Amino acid sequence: MIRQPDELNKMRRAGKVVAEMHEKTREAIRPGITTLDLDKVAREVLERRGARSNFLGYHGFPAVICTSPNSMVVHGIPGDYVLEEGDIISVDCGAIIEGYHGDAAYTAPVGTVSKEAQRLIEVTERSLWAGIEQLTAGNRLHEVGRAVENVALAGGYGVVRDYVGHAIGTAMHEQPQVPNYWPGNPGPKLKVGMVFAIEPMINIGTEDTYVLEDGWGVMTADGKLSCHVEHTICVTENGPEVFTLA
Ligand code: MG
Ligand code: MG
Repeated sequence: MIRQPDELNKMRRAGKVVAEMHEKTREAIRPGITTLDLDKVAREVLERRGARSNFLGYHGFPAVICTSPNSMVVHGIPGDYVLEEGDIISVDCGAIIEGYHGDAAYTAPVGTVSKEAQRLIEVTERSLWAGIEQLTAGNRLHEVGRAVENVALAGGYGVVRDYVGHAIGTAMHEQPQVPNYWPGNPGPKLKVGMVFAIEPMINIGTEDTYVLEDGWGVMTADGKLSCHVEHTICVTENGPEVFTLA
């Protein structure tokens, strides 16, 4: 969908709230705190900024962020899990301003992590930016997935196919979906005013996943590490504009 300038301004504002949720939760990450502590930090940002949560109550989700450590890919429910030195943790945040959504995630090291974990984060971030670069008017949407996949596969990693990115606007998850792989066709032509959430989920081992009994947490099938990063990006006349950067 093509968004009007006043709609894009609301999405910019929602994006800034998400960026602040990232900043404040990142500052709080250290060994010994729980994932529920991070949810509290994110709630404070939403309240201070007068924003609503798009995560809380989504199909019954009980928190304002998703926290997914180590071999959890996405959708972890914040709780009593205590972060340990050497963990990596994905923190996915969202906010609504005047009915318009922002959605973005980062993966952070907890203290000092293995070289293997550090490299996974670096390559996943690089794959996200390679995807973002494809969001230019006239290009085709699924070039995003091809670019993400090229970086991740060159790194020797598995690219999760069970979960994908999405268009975003007056709902968090709008059509079309944005796979992190080449889906076999080029997809729709990109136009100025379209907004997408691009979110590679990259695994050290297999791309296969399963869902925990809580119905939310998505795990790597082989128990190896997974990394998830995401931004909300608009196609503008001057190229991609990332709404969820500070
Ligand atoms: Mg997200
Ligand atoms: Mg998303």
